[in-house]
Amino acid sequence: MNHPAPERPADILARLRATFRTGRTKPVEWRTAQLGRLRALLTENGPDLEAALHADLGKSAAEAQRTEIGFTVREIDHTLEHLADWLRPEPAPVPAHLGTDATAWTQYDPLGVVLVIAPWNYPAQLLLTPLAGALAAGNAVVAKPSELAPATSAVLARLLPAYLDPEAVAVVEGGVPETTALLAERFDHIFYTGNGTVGRIVMRAAAEHLTPVTLELGGKSPAFVDRDTDLDVVAARLAAGKFLNAGQTCVAPDYVLTDPETAAALEPALARAVEALYGDDPANAPEYGRIVDERHFDRLTALLDSGRVVVGGTGDRAAKYIAPTVLADVAPESPVMSEEIFGPILPIVTVPGLDEAIAFVDDRDKPLALYVFTESAETRERFAAETSSGALGSGLPLAHLTVSDLPFGGVGESGTGSYHGRYSLETFSHRKAVLDKPLG
Ligand code: NAD
Repeated sequence: MNHPAPERPADILARLRATFRTGRTKPVEWRTAQLGRLRALLTENGPDLEAALHADLGKSAAEAQRTEIGFTVREIDHTLEHLADWLRPEPAPVPAHLGTDATAWTQYDPLGVVLVIAPWNYPAQLLLTPLAGALAAGNAVVAKPSELAPATSAVLARLLPAYLDPEAVAVVEGGVPETTALLAERFDHIFYTGNGTVGRIVMRAAAEHLTPVTLELGGKSPAFVDRDTDLDVVAARLAAGKFLNAGQTCVAPDYVLTDPETAAALEPALARAVEALYGDDPANAPEYGRIVDERHFDRLTALLDSGRVVVGGTGDRAAKYIAPTVLADVAPESPVMSEEIFGPILPIVTVPGLDEAIAFVDDRDKPLALYVFTESAETRERFAAETSSGALGSGLPLAHLTVSDLPFGGVGESGTGSYHGRYSLETFSHRKAVLDKPLG
């Protein structure tokens, strides 16, 4: 069969830019109509999306609905509810020397044509949620799904042009060569989710055109567990957050930081929590996911001997399965502590107490998320005041990202910029200053 040659990046850009220039994407009606179409794509194609997510990552249909499809629908609904409000120009007080007839305000202007590059771990959510934000802000968009989630990439490449305005939204599938070619073009914003190495490549390419970037990166997100907490509750919440999507979640608790006595009591609590979630053979638990590919399987397997296995520790390369694993007696300089784990391995690292825990966090890259499990308001406040992270979650991992009114993003090595809700509008708009002084 003869396929037509794919459209060149320069031609895609020229086409989308021409659409943007007509002004078609600017009225709020176009924006809300596109958001409505994106919502319909998600609600009308559940089975296709669920099948693709299962093929790519072994996600169960329930998890696909909760963390990808339903998540994005909720973001869209929140935006549809508030967009007109958010877009209202905001008056600014005018200083006396400009006279009483002068007025000033800020308004959100769309940026133009933006590029969204998504990773493989939540391949639908992490392409479509930024896309929704970019459309809400009135932009034309090039969407680049991850080649490491090929089934989801193919479904989205088929559906997006069918549901959305094809003159304003383009999908480019592919890996490094295709992304490199896109990055050579001049975009008005680049929104990248993925690892810091590629984040640097994206930022360098963007610098050529002075294009602003949002970098949604990762890193090691610590979970501090205080003494005197209900460890069964803590363990249940830690395990649920860690082993979701087989640990391949950017804000998953990467490691536990606690004192030695608490660690000793937490170990059996975590083993019980894993069994409560996935039974005694997680390989047969339908809701437990798989590792994305053999390269990541091998990388993760090499980390399994960084400590004493409390639970799990086994795997099956052919099935890309790694058991939910807890490691104890892990040294801070061990391999599992030297990189973001991004898989179902939870090491427990011990420190003498709170001061050392805070110093441990501050000595390392700023995390995307920091989790604190404590009954003490003072301890929470110390973490809030003395550490820096994209987000601080107290008592419940991952949950902050479901609050649409909170900005989602990192700081330092974990990223720059943020999105979700009105923060997506901020990210994909220019906040224009306007001064009006009548001539009369
Ligand atoms: P990935 O391998 O899918 O890469 C992400 C994107 O970058 C893909 O679209 C890919 O095609 C593109 N890419 C890869 N190499 C490139 C290159 N040399 N030049 C240009 N583009 C290139 O995903 P990943 O990076 O393995 O994702 C995992 C990382 O992403 C983890 O560090 C995780 O913490 C982070 N992450 C962050 C968030 C967040 O919201 N902050 C969400 C998910 C994942």
